[in-house]
Formats: sequence, C-alpha cells, structure tokens
Amino acid sequence: MKSRRKFLKTAGLGVGAVWAGSNAVQAAVPFPENPGERPQRGAGLSIGNPYGGRVPVTFVIDDSTTLVNMGHFCIPQFKEAWSRSKPGQYDVPWQEWPREISDDFVKKFGDFCRSEGVKGKYSIVPYPAMVGWVDREIPGWTRKQLVESRNLVRDFMMPDWDIHPEMISHTRVIDIKTGRPLPQRENGGYWMENGGWCAGKSVDEIADYIEYALQILKNAELPCEGFTTPGGFGNPAKEFLETAGFQAIRSVFPETEIPHYFKYVVTSSKESVAPRVENAKGIDGDNCECLVNLPSCTGDWFGRWHGGAPNPVEETVDRHIGPDFKTGRMVEVIEAGEPAAFLTHWPGMYCNGNETGFKSFQGVVKRLNQAYGEKIQWMKMSEIARYWAAKELTDLQMIGDEVKILAPFPAPGVTLKIALEGIFGRPVLNVPGRDPRPLEKVDPERWRPLQAGEYRIHRKEAEICFDLPKGRSSISQS
Ligand SMILES: [Zn+2]
Repeated sequence: MKSRRKFLKTAGLGVGAVWAGSNAVQAAVPFPENPGERPQRGAGLSIGNPYGGRVPVTFVIDDSTTLVNMGHFCIPQFKEAWSRSKPGQYDVPWQEWPREISDDFVKKFGDFCRSEGVKGKYSIVPYPAMVGWVDREIPGWTRKQLVESRNLVRDFMMPDWDIHPEMISHTRVIDIKTGRPLPQRENGGYWMENGGWCAGKSVDEIADYIEYALQILKNAELPCEGFTTPGGFGNPAKEFLETAGFQAIRSVFPETEIPHYFKYVVTSSKESVAPRVENAKGIDGDNCECLVNLPSCTGDWFGRWHGGAPNPVEETVDRHIGPDFKTGRMVEVIEAGEPAAFLTHWPGMYCNGNETGFKSFQGVVKRLNQAYGEKIQWMKMSEIARYWAAKELTDLQMIGDEVKILAPFPAPGVTLKIALEGIFGRPVLNVPGRDPRPLEKVDPERWRPLQAGEYRIHRKEAEICFDLPKGRSSISQS
C-alpha cells in the first residue's frame, strides 16, 4: 500500500487523459486507485513478462469507425461547442477534407500491420459524429457499403485488433431514451461526450451510457471486451467510471472474463506505465472480477488528431525510437520492461489521403521490429489485460520444494520467476486431471524467448514458462 500511495502523490505530473478535439494532453488527471484484492505471495516468487521476458507492445487507434472521416465531421461540432474556450483551434479547412476514410485504406493499413505482426486496439465509434448508426444506416453510403465495411473490421481487423466503442457519437451527448442529442445548455454551450457530462451522474447512469454504445456494436456483430473514453469522458467521475465500465461490459458481453479500458496517457519517464488491475474481487474463487486500465506511454505524436496537420515523418519516428535504437519514448519504456502502448487517431494516419501519419507509423514499426525482434511481443490490449490480471492476481506459495499456484484467470506463456537459494531440479507442471509435465531446459547463455513448456536457470533465478491454467496447479521438481 505504501508504495502505491507514494505513486499517487506524484502521479499528477505526466498523467493526463487523451483529449480528442485538441492535441493537448489534459493536465493532472490522477489514476483511480482501487486495486481491490491482491494475493499473498511467497518471497522470491513473481511473474515476469510473457514467454521468458518478451515486452508487450500494442498500438492504440482512437477515433476510427466505419467509413466516416471523424476529422471532417467532428470539427464543425467541436468548433461550435468550444471555439470560445479554444479560439483558433478549429479554424481548419474541414470542408475540403474527404468525408470518408475508405475501406481500401483500412485494408492497406491492416496488411502492413499483419506483415509486421502489429496488434492493438481499433475504435469503432458507434454513431460517429451523429452522421449515422454503424448497426443500421449511415447516410451518404449505401447499406451494402456499410455492411462490407463492418465485415472488413470483423473478419480482417479483429483477429489482431480489439474493438472498442469510444462512447456513442464522440461529439454530442446523446439522450439514450430518444437517441437524440441533449438540448443546448442554458449557458449556450453543448453537452459533449469529452466534456463534463459525467459530473454528478451515478454509477448506473454512466454504466447505461457505456452500455448503449456497446449494444450498438453488439448489434453490428462487433464484440468488445473493452472501451475507450473519448477525451475527458468520465473525468469528473473517475471514482465511478471503472465500476460503471465493468458493469456495462459484463451486461452487454457477459462472456467477457477480463474487461479493460483505455483512457490515460503517461508520458513522464518518472511514472510507471504498467497496466492497473483495478477492483479485483473474489481472487481465490471461480468468478474473479476485475477491470484492467491500460495507459498509453505516448501522446498522439503523429500529428493533430484530425489529420490536417501531420508531424514530419523522420522527427516523428525518432521521437518514438531513434535511428540508433537508443533514444525515444518507446525505447525508454521497453528497456524498462513495461508494456509499451503507443497512440494515434485514425484520421491522423490517413491525413486526408496523403498518409503522412501512416508513413511515420511504418517507420516506427520497422525500427521497433529491427531493434527488438523477439524481445518484444505485439499483443492486443485484451491480451495484455489478461496477462497482467494473471501476473497481479495469481497466488504463488513455495511449500517444501513445490510452488503452489492458484490462478483466478488462465493466461498463455506465463513466466514464473523463482529466486534461487540452492539447486533447483527439473521443473514439472502439475495440473489436476492431467499427466505431470516435465519442462525442457534451455541454454541460459544466449537469450531467446521461451516457449510454453521450457525453462532456464540463469545465475540465481529460474524462469519457467507455461500456459497458466485457471484454478490450482503447481510446479514441482524432479
Ligand atoms: Zn477519441
């Protein structure tokens, strides 16, 4: 508890929420701090990164949807709502920008990602800028085009990308009883999803709102295990957001074992960017509950979110990972061994057709893969959430010369680390109802990833990699 408290105090600095509609990262948004239950854990026992120490990497795409270019359609609504508080911010030639980001571009982007092994999160805004409904009709496109666009997301993107709603419209707050935007406020302003609507709302009210967004994606046959908050959505009610988010996901997609969400950006090198496993309950039972909060370690450094002002390619690549692979934010985080999530907004990849953001992204990905190869592991956010929930919530106890394990969630490629005092024999994985399985030894001198079923002993540490089953198991020695 003590170290967590200490973390909270300093958390104000580099921590902020992603704020679409401006490129600024909002200042001083502390994380919620409700870890809930944690297991007892024997001294010298821990879970390291997956597959013998591969560092998880993921790419977070906000403001994507089917067909609709959010850059074009959001600007007039943002401008109307915020031009007083952010003068000049929205004076961009949005009328000249294309209304569509085509499926051809989705395909091109997805093909590149597949060839490089990239995985991540791809938002589908369900009622994008109130243009139309992803599960019904989007005026300006034929029904066939909409269906094809959804199919492309489901069949082509989803194997490597989690789908998140980014609330309902990403612009105006919608009255979920009528489907219409809330009326103008008395002060002449508008209720915006990335504004302060959540202030004073109950958990249930916030949950209902998130649920409505999820339900549209469910209707569109785009299942979700998580959600993304548009900008500051939830800021005035952060203590409720996690409870509400968990409720919403479990109510629309009850089969979701480990719900997760994306909201926070942590760019200060003094802060941890590790996922937060929040509100854990029932960790020693069959139906453990928790919600995983996965922050990004970069802001959107590819350019302005709307795609109208991309940053220069070389500079952008360097900011993530330098030409000598020794500098850049991604290097900093990967070297620290923490999951490195980097961030963009979909219109900022397309850049109204010149694809400058996409070029920068390709540069970052190629350098990351060249520099790290198998030392990193591209994962979906849901995969990182699962691994982290297992890493944080699995009970590990050394009893005699056997490690007794109680896991609330199964996870692939879990790497158990044991600080050794004496000799450690050949590890054997014991799972009730299965034959004991001895693990295969790997040469510790030349690092390579471990496969499930392998182990190595290096200096005074054993690393044992296996697919962690739910419930009880153990590692004994033969
Ligand atoms: Zn957004």
